[in-house]
Amino acid sequence: MTKTNWAKIDEILNGKKNGKTVSLRGWIYRTRSSGNIVFAIIRDSTGILQATIKKGNLPDKEFEDAKKALIESSLEVKGLVKEDKRAPGGYELQVTSANIINFAEPFPIVKDQSPEFLLDQRHLWIRSQYISSILKIRSTIVGAIHKFFRDRGYYEFDAPVLQPNQCEGGSTLFEVKYYENKTYLSQSWQLYAEAAVFALEKIYNMGPTFRAEKSKTSRHLSEFWMAEMEAAWMDLHDVTEVAKEEVKFILQEVLKHNKNELEILGQDIKKLEKISKSKFPTITYTEAIKILKEKEKMKVEWGKDLRTIEEDKLLKHFGTPVVVTNYPSEIMAFYKPSDPKDPKTALCFDMIAPEGYGEIVGGSQRSLDVKEMTKRLKEMGEKIDNYEWYFDLRRYGSIPHSGYGLGVERVVAWICGIDNIKDSIPFPRTLLRYKP
Ligand code: ATP
Ligand code: MG
Repeated sequence: MTKTNWAKIDEILNGKKNGKTVSLRGWIYRTRSSGNIVFAIIRDSTGILQATIKKGNLPDKEFEDAKKALIESSLEVKGLVKEDKRAPGGYELQVTSANIINFAEPFPIVKDQSPEFLLDQRHLWIRSQYISSILKIRSTIVGAIHKFFRDRGYYEFDAPVLQPNQCEGGSTLFEVKYYENKTYLSQSWQLYAEAAVFALEKIYNMGPTFRAEKSKTSRHLSEFWMAEMEAAWMDLHDVTEVAKEEVKFILQEVLKHNKNELEILGQDIKKLEKISKSKFPTITYTEAIKILKEKEKMKVEWGKDLRTIEEDKLLKHFGTPVVVTNYPSEIMAFYKPSDPKDPKTALCFDMIAPEGYGEIVGGSQRSLDVKEMTKRLKEMGEKIDNYEWYFDLRRYGSIPHSGYGLGVERVVAWICGIDNIKDSIPFPRTLLRYKP
């Protein structure tokens, strides 16, 4: 038996197969027929292609089957590739053989369906050009993050998902029964990363992260992927620079590999190119408040965290992501130290994306002050015993160190220019949704 040489649709659209006979397999994306001709759009993982199936060009039984086949039927076809300006992508396939692998039942997804319906049908909707384009970009972004850190000498380091402690505040913990005890799903890799920098110095990780976010927003998922880094000897300034470089690198990689997908999503490629070459500014929280008061005439109080609306208004004054440092100490997590030069504020930062995409990175220098951290944890009602292992890190060769976490889905949503973070992950988990 000779092995079939299966072509991919992108090779055809690249013009490499013009005038040649190819075999192709995939699914029917759209189809219409009139009398003795069927116009089918076939899709595979690389694109869509128009196929013309004419009675007489292939055995009658195959023609009748092709005519009957509904969208999402899977099939193998053989035919001649012809350049045709009218066809989407500029090429069409003149079919000489068609073999339906599976006759699909009537597909439940038709035009103009509600977002909730599409989420119910997510297992089918991921086949759409819209979601599959986002998933391809997501894959580039995930690959870029690994490449960025590995090329710079960081080790990949894994932390447990089941953790005895909170890291980002008790209110968003998911509790898990653990034999006779209880643990929590990881809110962050950070506390374990802080142990590991004493061994590996520069580390990173990307993994599922869980937060029981109790409000419905278009930026929060209950399960999301966080790409974190932690490094010995680095201070706040050092890590903000790493974060800026990382985000730019991610953008450049997407622009290198996914122009096609960005176009399908209707994203402005020129705008992203400009951002990828720009300098990202750093301002302090206090400066941010000043901009909001003076330029936006907003009533904002020094001391409160920036809300979504404030972040969005602030970013109107910049064309790139912006790093905001030195938020008020009081509202920050227990491990964020006060700035000795301005003790009311913490040595921490957020990177905020333009156009309403909000915080994409959050990080800080790490506190080395066991007394201060103990006080903060007690105020929060935490059991100090659970943190003794963490305090040991300050007892045995303590060093300055810093790190941050980047929200993968937030970055995907921003780069893709999509409305809701739910479309940046294959199967979203939110306050109201854990199926399918
Ligand atoms: P926010 O204020 O938006 O809730 P955060 O301050 O809780 O964010 P961090 O604890 O700093 O966020 O987490 C690091 C990054 O992880 C954030 O900058 C963001 O990009 C991402 N992130 C945090 N929470 C979520 C979530 N629930 N869903 C998706 N991404 C998230
Ligand atoms: Mg949060």
